[in-house]
Amino acid sequence: MSSCLRCEKKIEDLFFICTECAQDLFSENIFWIASSPTIHEPVIDRYKEDSEATLRVGDVPDDELEFFEGKNTLDEIKDIDVEELDSDDYSRVKKRLNTILSEMGVTNTFEPDIYVFSDKDVKVFSEIFYLLEELEHKFKKPKGEKNLYLKIANLFFYTGMEADTSAFEMSFRDKVKSDLFKEAEGYYSLAIENSTEDVLPDYNKGLLHLEKDEASEAKERFETVLDKELDNYLGRIGLIKCYIRMGDLNKAEKELNKVLENFGESKEIWYLKGEIARLRGRWGGAIQFYNQCLKIDFEFEDALTRKCDILLEKGMYSQSNDIFDEYIKEFKYEPMAWFGKAKALYEMDKWGGAIQCINEALALDPQIKEAWVTKGDILSDKKQYDLAIESYNKALRIDDSYQEAKEKLEKAKDRLE
Ligand SMILES: [Zn+2]
Repeated sequence: MSSCLRCEKKIEDLFFICTECAQDLFSENIFWIASSPTIHEPVIDRYKEDSEATLRVGDVPDDELEFFEGKNTLDEIKDIDVEELDSDDYSRVKKRLNTILSEMGVTNTFEPDIYVFSDKDVKVFSEIFYLLEELEHKFKKPKGEKNLYLKIANLFFYTGMEADTSAFEMSFRDKVKSDLFKEAEGYYSLAIENSTEDVLPDYNKGLLHLEKDEASEAKERFETVLDKELDNYLGRIGLIKCYIRMGDLNKAEKELNKVLENFGESKEIWYLKGEIARLRGRWGGAIQFYNQCLKIDFEFEDALTRKCDILLEKGMYSQSNDIFDEYIKEFKYEPMAWFGKAKALYEMDKWGGAIQCINEALALDPQIKEAWVTKGDILSDKKQYDLAIESYNKALRIDDSYQEAKEKLEKAKDRLE
């Protein structure tokens, strides 16, 4: 057992925060969950013109958010008195909120890589959101300002994607994500309603549907993008992803070759070619295409993961171990990278290293049930059956219908006797 970080109530040692506290925190501030307490990458001060990096890796951002003319963002939002506004003021305020978000670096495009949320950012985002809700309530949703809806939708989408939910139990994790995505979807729809020509609301909403594994809804959005702009590269790539998701590999390949002809090589194209080859069971070809993608961008995480999975599956353990090393250099907070290295080391009979890596993975996310099972396997091989049993039991506490863990647990119990 361990204690909840907030209320100190005794909880299962797989979690850090009890579900009641998580619920409280969530209703207090919708965006808090995506805030980063420390900076993992150097960021530039987005609130000043021509600024250079002001925060280094490991720094905690602690200064006030200010516009360069000197006004505090949060005060500015709090100064707005909804009750006294008339509809002219209303449209001005909406424009102002839009400007504030733009000046904070929130764009109309969904680009998860560019946002870094500090606690202060999170405060401002949620103030903007609640102020908007108040406005909409008072003015009964007048039309206009699709940019603002689009930005708010992006914030929800980003929060849902980046939310670090590893402290919560499984059922609450799913709820958090689906609540955030539902908000995002609503705001994307508002942005679409209020805009006829812009393709971004449709495109971003397509991405959201893909993330939710709703390929046919996503396809509809990307087709709308292409209706508006026939030559839209991202829309075309989105459509190809839908075909792949729907299992229509021939159509996907045909479209992909067209894109290659019209736009030339790109990392996305090589990655998607790799996906098609992989789904057709052509491992060698898939690895070649992933390599082409990684040659352009080594940090293309999906290509890296897929490639490592194939290497592991095909028994090329030392090669896969080397790649995971590179991977970990770039993504040391990615539990699956540690888990992957652990699997490669285990297959190479390097048990000590494998245990270390698996502990690293489980420290980052204690709820990867497969990692508990692999840990149990290594401990069984080391004849430490009592510890192996503990490990399999952890996996079963995460998912009590996990058949593989059940069988292995019984085996380990037999051997202990
Ligand atoms: Zn608690």
